[in-house]
Amino acid sequence: MTVPPAQIRIDLAALRRNAAALATLIGQACELLAVVKADGYGHGMAEAARAALAGGARRLGVSTVEEGVALRSAGLACPILVMGVMDETEAPEAVAHRLTPVVCRNSQLDALIGAACSSSKQPTPVHIKVDTGMGRLGLLPEEFFPVLQRARSAPALRIEGIMTHFAEADAAGPAYTTEQLGRFRAVLDRIGQIGLGQPGGRRPDRSPLIAHAANSAALLTRPESRLQMVRAGLALYGLLPSPSCRGVIDLEPVMSWTTRIAHLRRLPAGRSLGYGRTFTTRRPSLIGLLPIGYAAGYPRLLSNRAVCLHQGGRVPVVGRISMDLTMIDLTDHPSAGIGDEVVLLGPQGHERITAEELAAWAETIPYEVVCGAGGRTVRRHFPPFSPARARRAG
Ligand SMILES: *Cc1c(COP(=O)(O)O)cnc(C)c1O
Repeated sequence: MTVPPAQIRIDLAALRRNAAALATLIGQACELLAVVKADGYGHGMAEAARAALAGGARRLGVSTVEEGVALRSAGLACPILVMGVMDETEAPEAVAHRLTPVVCRNSQLDALIGAACSSSKQPTPVHIKVDTGMGRLGLLPEEFFPVLQRARSAPALRIEGIMTHFAEADAAGPAYTTEQLGRFRAVLDRIGQIGLGQPGGRRPDRSPLIAHAANSAALLTRPESRLQMVRAGLALYGLLPSPSCRGVIDLEPVMSWTTRIAHLRRLPAGRSLGYGRTFTTRRPSLIGLLPIGYAAGYPRLLSNRAVCLHQGGRVPVVGRISMDLTMIDLTDHPSAGIGDEVVLLGPQGHERITAEELAAWAETIPYEVVCGAGGRTVRRHFPPFSPARARRAG
């Protein structure tokens, strides 16, 4: 029998409650799209998707056609928005799996029209993205209308949504988000004028045009940005993009990450520890070795900075984190034993290490912490997936 070096626990009931809290916050008139790209931010894509849908999300968002196809293979039938760059060669796959691509260039439209015409299905829904100031994906407002007209004149396509993305909705200063929202509103007004239907209103074919812009930070701090739909990622997983988002709703962290003491060393004062000799014992010390390191996504920048939980108390990481080993100072925990649980992320007793804390210590954002957590660690989902229950839930 082998012993896994670490375990990631995903609390799907908490994820479902987070989705329900978000759905309640935005209200009936607004749809919740659950962003499950990048393996559900490291939480498991299909599992996270099912829990979010059970909590009230109506759609899913991914980055790639490949992710969308994987969700379909996992049995998920709801609308799936592909928010990254769809390569033209992927259009047939996208159409065949009833994915909803986000269009950022004419050649994608051509490829989708070609693929949609050769399949006898319903028109393929597309969303068109406007770059209102992110400077990454999307069409500038002046480039947008020719593409919109082309999409509109193609019977094989149905323009279902118009979207944009905020560059700093998580910033303390709201000015730039206000600017972006203003540019988006101007585009939406013109869409209304050319007879495509007001976003949110009914169109001649009776389908609503969905305008959407808000990510987690915007939906929490800028209610006016919620429009007809919000795209929630980080908040679903119980994490906040920035301190400015605190106090709006209660969310529960979904991921916890535990390991165990694999080995113990008693070392005299004055011994240096690990690569680069970045820590020297100041007293006779009890050092615990954890069988995980940066290969498992525990960032090397946490060396000599992070704390873990042992016996419900905080213990510091000492010395450099290496590929598969991390050292902690257990001198103040003399009863520590091999096999004891150590929490890297999540609760133990009355203490908790948050992803936001880990991110601050590692000079990054909570997104990167949870996406990176894992490596060879075993990930378990609670409750485990039951095909019978999934069938009942539809
Ligand atoms: C990832 C992503 C989101 C979700 O952002 P969060 O900050 O995690 O809520 C929303 N929209 C787009 C286009 C994205 O790529």
